[in-house]
Amino acid sequence: MAIPQVLEALLQARGPSGYEAEASRVWRDAAAAYGEVTTDVLGSSYVRVPGGDGPTLAVLGHIDEIGLIVTHIDENGFLAVRRIGGFNAEMLVGQRVTLMTRGGKIRGVVARRKAKTHGDEKAGAVEIDDLDVDIGARDAGEARSLVRPGDAMVLDGEPFELPNRRLVSRALDNRVGSYVALEVARLVADAGAPPGDVVAGALTQEEIGGFAGRAGMTGLRPDVVIVFDVTSSNDVPGADPREDGVHPLGSGPAILRGPTMNPRVVDLLVDAAEAEGIPYTLEVAARESMTDADEIHNANAGIATAVVSIPLRYMHSPIEVVQLDDIEACARLAAAFAGKLGPDSSFDR
Ligand SMILES: [Zn+2]
Repeated sequence: MAIPQVLEALLQARGPSGYEAEASRVWRDAAAAYGEVTTDVLGSSYVRVPGGDGPTLAVLGHIDEIGLIVTHIDENGFLAVRRIGGFNAEMLVGQRVTLMTRGGKIRGVVARRKAKTHGDEKAGAVEIDDLDVDIGARDAGEARSLVRPGDAMVLDGEPFELPNRRLVSRALDNRVGSYVALEVARLVADAGAPPGDVVAGALTQEEIGGFAGRAGMTGLRPDVVIVFDVTSSNDVPGADPREDGVHPLGSGPAILRGPTMNPRVVDLLVDAAEAEGIPYTLEVAARESMTDADEIHNANAGIATAVVSIPLRYMHSPIEVVQLDDIEACARLAAAFAGKLGPDSSFDR
């Protein structure tokens, strides 16, 4: 197996929420092959494949990833941090980080405070204030010459392959979604003349609240949106399918059902999957989807919205795992869906 080149480049790029420029650049360079690339003030990127009189379909993945932000540099040159996005501080202990600074990238490590780990005393749960980032600085002056409060960093976690077309990396959430959006643009552009315009997009700032999704829809005015994101696959020890259904690695796209998902779009996605012989599962969200869709379905005067997810293990960690078949199947599903739209498509309910 080879990791597709564009996906690999997206994974090598860094882009915590609000600091996505490097990853966005990779996405835009790849997107330019399929149409005109545009951007907005929040940093989101779009490429439009022109189509007929049918509804405008936007296929969107977020390009940002979780990370850390420097809040303080102490008297010995250690960095205090806060989380960008939601994850357990425990995951950070012993990790390597890359900081994005004014002078370029620098490396560091996340260490747990000595006082909390010595002796026989059992260490308690790790909190963010138990951690310091060490960049190897001799003193505060040197650290402050290299790093400023507000600099962001991500954990290191280079992509590598496991058997069964499985791929490990940091930031699979959600570079894979932004990659699927690109793949849909490619498939639709190759097929030619889609029933309506298809706009693929890479949204910023999802991990901190979906702001760019909402702002982007005001500019884009799509009729239908498919959000590509990842969902926790429950084929790992301790997982419970009673939470949101069964969607293991390799089971294909997880099509989300729930109150905020447009039922006609969901039905069309299911029809497209069955017509094309694409494996899929149904996932359920009783309330919000915890994706950009939460800020998109009720944007403008309301947008017919669906979420299609790629099963992923170990979400919000540097060892996220996906299976390439699921990524490909998501792109094929959305391209088939695009072909089912027409001037008479209605999403009323
Ligand atoms: Zn996430």
